[in-house]
Amino acid sequence: MPWCDDCSRFWNPTSMGKGGECPTCGRVIAAPPKVPWHFKLMLVALAVYLGFRAWQGVAWAIHHF
Ligand SMILES: [Zn+2]
Repeated sequence: MPWCDDCSRFWNPTSMGKGGECPTCGRVIAAPPKVPWHFKLMLVALAVYLGFRAWQGVAWAIHHF
């Protein structure tokens, strides 16, 4: 639980701001959650895969109509 010295209270991570700041005084009390690099890589791979499948579908449609 992140603790704010200025407000002398604990904060629920969900009630803090996006940058991990205290909702009352705005002081950063916790590191913002980081997106792991392999998650980004997975999104890129998924986009490439879906693009490839879409291209395959277009190529199939061109050949069959
Ligand atoms: Zn505070």
